[in-house]
Amino acid sequence: MDERVKGIILKAIDYKESDKLLTILTLEKGKILVRARGVKKPNSKFKAFCQCFCFADFELINGKAGYILAGVNCIDSFFDIVTDFDKFSYASSVLEILDKICVENQVYYDLFLSAVKCINEINYSDINNSEIILCKFIIEVLSLEGFTFDLTNCSICGGELKKAFLDLSTGEIVCADCNKSEQNLEISNGVLSAIKILTENDYNRLSSIKFSRQILTNLLFILYKNLAFRFEIRINSLKYNKK
Ligand SMILES: [Zn+2]
Repeated sequence: MDERVKGIILKAIDYKESDKLLTILTLEKGKILVRARGVKKPNSKFKAFCQCFCFADFELINGKAGYILAGVNCIDSFFDIVTDFDKFSYASSVLEILDKICVENQVYYDLFLSAVKCINEINYSDINNSEIILCKFIIEVLSLEGFTFDLTNCSICGGELKKAFLDLSTGEIVCADCNKSEQNLEISNGVLSAIKILTENDYNRLSSIKFSRQILTNLLFILYKNLAFRFEIRINSLKYNKK
């Protein structure tokens, strides 16, 4: 049975002598594994497309042993990301986050659309925007998976946030009085308003937004910690403390 899906390749690993095993996040079926037969042979017509970041319409055969690649119609291979080391490093974190939080047999319609917008924006905008775009993506992931921040009031007592802390056990923001754990992270007012700005603006509006280096570093650190605690994952490609 032939099936067509729209998807982006998250992972492509060598499999047996000449095959690759692709992890693809698709619009229609969520995360799937697809075997690409013979793609390591020099004359394979799919060779150029069986790489991370390839965004395409994939034709699949649903066989007894799982999906087999039967055709690829590439929409965008995101050339800038693949050829620019810094862009590649930020965009790789996006793929790693998707691979680690998405489970098979579950559809992630909104997350898929957000991921494609995010990768598209990293590819086509200035490299200096990549970190902000990644922060926006993590905020979207948290929100789409049910972890939205209340940025104005303490999630426990409802009081005003004169000093704010991220409660790592719940992912919510609490005030100084309700902050009971040593591991919780203080969030500066600058970081709080950065989260608000990124929540309210879509990817295509991020190029006009600038944060200081300190705010951006703290923001990415806090978002990463929250993501790691909520999903019990570690994102190895994410370098949140550089510079
Ligand atoms: Zn409180």
